[in-house]
Amino acid sequence: MIWNEEFETLPREELEILQLKRLKDLVQRSYYRVKPYRDKMDEAGIKPEHIRSLADLQKLPFTTKDFLRDNYPFGLFTLPLDQVVRVHASSGTTGKPTVVGYTKRDIETWAEVMARALACGGVHRGDVVHNAYGYGLFTGGLGAHYGAEKLGATVVPISGGQTKRQIMIMQDFGSNVLLATPSYALNIAETMEDMGVDSSKLSLRVGIFGAEPWSENMREEVEKKLGLKAIDIYGLSEIIGPGVSMECIEAQHGMHIFEDHFMPEIIDPDSGQVLPLGEKGELVFTTLTKQAFPLIRYRTKDITRLIAEPCICGRTFMRMEKITGRTDDMLIIRGVNVFPTQVEHVLMGIEGVEPHYQIIVNREGSMDTMEVQVEVSEQLFSDEVKNLEKLSKRIQVEIKDLIGSSCKITLVEPKTIQRSEGKAKRVIDNRKI
Ligand code: ADP
Ligand code: ZN
Repeated sequence: MIWNEEFETLPREELEILQLKRLKDLVQRSYYRVKPYRDKMDEAGIKPEHIRSLADLQKLPFTTKDFLRDNYPFGLFTLPLDQVVRVHASSGTTGKPTVVGYTKRDIETWAEVMARALACGGVHRGDVVHNAYGYGLFTGGLGAHYGAEKLGATVVPISGGQTKRQIMIMQDFGSNVLLATPSYALNIAETMEDMGVDSSKLSLRVGIFGAEPWSENMREEVEKKLGLKAIDIYGLSEIIGPGVSMECIEAQHGMHIFEDHFMPEIIDPDSGQVLPLGEKGELVFTTLTKQAFPLIRYRTKDITRLIAEPCICGRTFMRMEKITGRTDDMLIIRGVNVFPTQVEHVLMGIEGVEPHYQIIVNREGSMDTMEVQVEVSEQLFSDEVKNLEKLSKRIQVEIKDLIGSSCKITLVEPKTIQRSEGKAKRVIDNRKI
């Protein structure tokens, strides 16, 4: 079902008129109310009146996470705090977290795009929605919560953790929809196996998984283990939180970007040049309607491409392909670019290998080394040493074939790699660079 026919099926020409109107307003607001934005634009020699067409967006300077940090915590808000009804913050593994603020209307916009997203994934009024995204400063839990309520679904605000209890509740409440990170969904599936609960004892129909990268093979795995259709959802706190883009259940291919609110561009991460439509590069977003904390040309560091072809679901919004990595979690090992998702892709294609892995990078002398620790099934682990050696050789060769870099493979016993209750930590980089 399409939640908002009027906007989600707007003809492109009409959409562009709306986008331009909103863009002009955004630039005005940011320039006249926020000094750091004004300084940035003055430096680039751009005034709000220079924005006359959508193509003029390219004249505006980029914003990055550093710009946000430099103005920590509230320096980029365009409105005083008496109009800000909520703040969230991203985890911020390096340095200070990134703080974002919302007016009442921003919260409504967020609920609107999240309701669209859930509907896009086939969720509807009457569904029991088990929301295992973390509640708190992280945008996942509350973002999904408001959207599901707006849609008219019955929300179970369970948050992450206490997995056995979650399974009992899903069983007792007859939950139809699971919202979680894909790694937590797997953790749930595995805990169900341990408890002897078969997916047929649950009523799950759809899983809406996002907040971290996951591969097509991982999709198959969770779909099989949980007996549901797994749909990808994308978002980031800086832009609004979850609900920036969403896969439709009809195509399960590419996530529709809610372009009347978020304007995408794909750039070459090195030169900053906008790339032709369809090419792969870094995703950049401009928030067209956000009030308290708008962002102009925010560099997400996520790598993807845009799909402009019409979609079978009838939505006219462009889609973005599954995220294949980030410009920053991209590992460079002896000069070779390695994305954890590529390693995952190889692992998930091999029988007997569990979807739990960790990549450990070390520097020995001036030499970088990469070790992939991967869990194998109980049955394989008790197998002959010869077979285990064969398996690790095979993984090694396949990784080398795909990414051109050799690595050490360590097969570990089932359940030794730490399980995720939110976002999984896939890489441990011990190099001090
Ligand atoms: P933090 O992780 O710092 O708290 P966010 O929660 O806002 O910040 O995370 C946003 C990031 O999560 C995105 O920029 C992207 O890298 C990743 N992400 C979110 N959804 C997806 C998805 N569906 N697929 C891949 N990566 C995703
Ligand atoms: Zn579609």
